[in-house]
Parts: sequence; structure tokens; C-alpha cells
Amino acid sequence: MAHIIDGKARAARLRAHIGATVAELKESRDLEPGLAVVLVGEDPASQVYVRNKARQAREVGMRSFEHRHPTGIGQAELLALVASLNRDPAVHGILVQLPLPAHIASHEVITAIDPAKDVDGFHPINVGRLSIGLDALVPCTPLGCLILLREQLGTLAGREAVVVGRSNIVGKPMAALLLRESCTVTVAHSRTRDLGAVCRRAEILITAVGHPGLVGRNEIRPGATVIDVGMNRLPRPDGGYRLVGDVDLAAASQVAAAITPVPGGVGPMTIACLLANTLTAACRQRGLTPPELAGAA
Ligand code: NDP
Repeated sequence: MAHIIDGKARAARLRAHIGATVAELKESRDLEPGLAVVLVGEDPASQVYVRNKARQAREVGMRSFEHRHPTGIGQAELLALVASLNRDPAVHGILVQLPLPAHIASHEVITAIDPAKDVDGFHPINVGRLSIGLDALVPCTPLGCLILLREQLGTLAGREAVVVGRSNIVGKPMAALLLRESCTVTVAHSRTRDLGAVCRRAEILITAVGHPGLVGRNEIRPGATVIDVGMNRLPRPDGGYRLVGDVDLAAASQVAAAITPVPGGVGPMTIACLLANTLTAACRQRGLTPPELAGAA
């Protein structure tokens, strides 16, 4: 049976390390990292994410600034808010919760964020820096996956990695990070022919699709490490829902060496990595070398 990778425990350790570093920065440098989170609209899932991000920022000793706006906010007003956060020296990280309402062009808002404060790592400058191997703020979910992989496997160089999904948020930055680690990387997507054959090549298999049960035992190479990013809500008879990933955990556990569960795998790492990015951004803005969080903590 596969080892179940405990993302919740790993995230707690990372947050503890961040908390200790923040306390030290406040004491020795009078630096208090600040994270601004901007939420537009009433989407219940986004409300929960934003609340959790702000709470966890406060728990590690950061300042948290929440900006909530109704769905009807105009693009110009939102851009003006981003510009004021860019100028605010107490704000080191800016996160605009996606998705934004249809009347707002998300890319305009993302590109308006100062790349140095872009803790989601979505600004084209950070995307470009990551792809050419310069220091960058890296998207939180792929960064969380990388930390789990490094802990499980040690060095990743030379390993055969398959990423299923090519979104700008998960799939593409994940592939860029694995390439930076010198993996041999294949990216699969909805037009991939014979997904099973592609997946079975993988020593490292990452699924970021949003289809429950897409990957079962036939899609997994024996001994592979499987990271399931998918988050799918399946309705329950009582009106609630059950959260599952893209991978059939029970079936996959029979062939994989290690696998992340949903919930309790990648999800908790995402917010912990947002805090890590905020700390990194705060240090860089002060001209300090950021602590090595991805490997050491
Ligand atoms: P997107 O919908 O933006 O991307 C999904 C990707 O999956 C696309 O590249 C699509 O291909 C590909 N795809 C769709 N169907 C298939 C298929 N049958 N076979 C192979 N590939 C397929 O989603 P995101 O990247 O934003 O999110 C992916 C999943 O990860 C979702 O379940 C989301 O909820 C979850 N998620 C979890 C996070 C966490 O913290 N745990 C954070 C972010 C996302 P194509 O490009 O060809 O359309």
C-alpha cells in the first residue's frame, strides 16, 4: 500500500518555520510582513479561501489587510485599489482572489500588481523569470507540490515527470518548476492521445484537472509518487458534499509508492506557500536574502 503523504502536517511545519522567522524579523529588523487580500463578489468558496488566507497570515504574525468589494465594482476602481496597495509600504504581498466577475479583465488586474508584491506568482514578469531560471515569486500550489515531492524523493533530477493539466495557475508553472529541478517533463491535457500510456511513464505524476476518478490504478506506474491537485465536490445524499481529487485514492494506493490524499494533501500546502511567498517578498523588498523555505522548513 502506498504511503499517504500528509500535506496538513507538512503545511503546519512550514507555517511554524515561517512564524519563527517572522518573529525574528520583527525583533531584529523591525520588519512585519503584510499581506493584502482583495475579494470581489460573494462567491462562497472564494469567501472561505480569503478568510483562511487572512487568518493564517495573522497566525504566523503577519499583518493582514482584507479588501472586500461588491460584484459591481468597476475595473478602474479595482485598478486604483491595486495601485494604492503597490504604493503602501506596509503591504509586501498582494493577492487578488480569482475568479473575478466577467466585466473585469483579470489579466489587466494581475499585470497591474507590482511584480515584487505578486505573491500569487501570476504576473507575466514572474512567469517569465521562472521560465528563464531567475528568482521569481512562484505560484503557491505548484510550489506546495514541489515541497512535498522534495521531501518524499529527495533530489528530483533525471526523474520522469508527467503533469496532467496545463492551466496558468497549476499545470504550466508546475512543469516549469519540475524542469528547473531537471526532471524530464511531459505535460498532458484534454487533447492528449492515450492519457493512460503517458501517465504510466511517470515516476512523478501530478494531476491538476478537476475530473474525479480520471486516474486509477491503470494510469499509474508501479512505485510512482502521485500528487493530486484536483479538488472536486461530489454531492452527498444529505445535501452536503464530499471533496475528492482527480485520482481514485483506493485504487491508486495499490500501485503507487506514495500519494497525496484529498483533502489533506496539496490544499493545505497552497496557503502555507502563500505565506512563504509573502515572507520572501517582504525580505526582498527590504534588500534581505529570503530564508530558504522550500527545502529547509
Ligand atoms: P483548469 O480548468 O484551468 O485546467 C484544467 C486542465 O485540465 C486543462 O489544462 C485541461 O486541458 C485539462 N483537462 C481537462 N480534461 C482533461 C482530460 N480528460 N484529460 C487530460 N486533461 C484534461 O483548472 P485548474 O488548473 O485551475 O485546476 C485544476 C484542478 O485543481 C481543479 O480541480 C481545481 O479545483 C484544483 N485546484 C486545487 C488547488 C489546491 O490548492 N489544491 C489550487 C488550484 C486548483 P485543456 O487545457 O486542453 O483544456
